[in-house]
Amino acid sequence: MWSRSASVVSRRLWGPRLGLERLPGRVCSALAQLHAVLEAELERIRGAGTWKGERVITSRQGAHITVQGRGGEILNFFANNYLGLSSHSAVMQSGIEALEQYGAGLSSVRFICGTQDLHKNLEAKIAKFHQREDAILYASCFDANAGIFEVLLSPEDALLSDELNHASIIDGVRLCKTNKYRYKHMDLDDLESKLKEAQKHRIKMIVTDGVFSMDGDVAPLKEICDLAEKYNALVFIDDCHATGFMGPNGRGTDELLGVMDRVHIVNSTLGKALGGAAGGYTTGPKAVVDLLRQRSRPYLFSNTLPPPVVGCASKALDLLMNSNAIAQTMASKTKRFRSQMTAAGFTIGGADHPICPVMLGDARLASTMADDMLQRGIYVIGFSYPVVPKGKARIRVQISASHSDRDIDQCVQAFLEVGRKHGVIP
Ligand SMILES: *Cc1c(COP(=O)(O)O)cnc(C)c1O
Repeated sequence: MWSRSASVVSRRLWGPRLGLERLPGRVCSALAQLHAVLEAELERIRGAGTWKGERVITSRQGAHITVQGRGGEILNFFANNYLGLSSHSAVMQSGIEALEQYGAGLSSVRFICGTQDLHKNLEAKIAKFHQREDAILYASCFDANAGIFEVLLSPEDALLSDELNHASIIDGVRLCKTNKYRYKHMDLDDLESKLKEAQKHRIKMIVTDGVFSMDGDVAPLKEICDLAEKYNALVFIDDCHATGFMGPNGRGTDELLGVMDRVHIVNSTLGKALGGAAGGYTTGPKAVVDLLRQRSRPYLFSNTLPPPVVGCASKALDLLMNSNAIAQTMASKTKRFRSQMTAAGFTIGGADHPICPVMLGDARLASTMADDMLQRGIYVIGFSYPVVPKGKARIRVQISASHSDRDIDQCVQAFLEVGRKHGVIP
């Protein structure tokens, strides 16, 4: 036994140097069984036309990119790079400086030896940006959502969640042992009836995306806050698709709808508009952040955000706090795309948001049309079940401040050609 495991270890350690690439395959019925089950499932996905391939980008993220297997630049309408900051020169420079000064990473979680002044400064900047008391960084907003609810809510309390909230909220809610109410998507009557039912519990928290990423629709936060105040509940929003560009100063949907002082906790990401590298955070009351640092599992047991990533996000926030010009540019680009597409007869979901879902219904149609768009040099991808409900397949177009008017017009022109070809528009 000892000698066998020792030889496995030594092969793992020294294998590459000795030229041993892989251990010889062994007949194993458990593995064969797994293989059969997985192959059948993979075949079902292919058969349903919902296989999600990955196109490989060979350039920086931006309005114009290159992809593997295709010569020349293509126009990219698919990133969450709303403000074009993921390849902004000042953002990248800040990342390089952080790399040089602070190194590649901390090889530690925050509470052991993984906190630098850089991290504390970014947390303070995030809190200032959102006008909240404090903020805490995570490796991603997925982690921020996974880590918050079980810390704040106990079996004495209750959580009321929009049925279409992001997958990471759903997972976070699953981990939390509180009383759970799911209300119909943006349905205030249903929310009110659930709030009435929940009155018997201690703390009540309404949980919603600020902007829902599949439809680009904005949660009615003013009315939600009215209900929260009437029924003594807290309001939590996940503002990943709004932070940096929604509202007059890009603070998010709470600023857009005039409720910054009525939404209690905001979770968001550094991986979209704010430079697009990675990272997420919670910002809100100091006591909330203090307790998260003590108890939140993805924070306690996962590595510190790398300094270059922190440097990039920090510069992105500086740019936004100095001027709202970038956010304003994006709004005008969005208007240009939406009005031209609607005039041509397409149905675009949501309202005024740079997420512009071109609604098509059929999964195969969405994916074929996306392929035809790529033929014309426009990078968009069809979304279908299970990412969106069955029968609601669409091509999601995302506008960025980095698109020129010409880029937008070129995208619309390609949609006109492809839409006519497939009989979607006259
Ligand atoms: C993208 C997104 C997340 C996940 O953010 P990451 O930082 O990439 O983990 C969470 N919630 C919503 C609503 C999102 O759109």
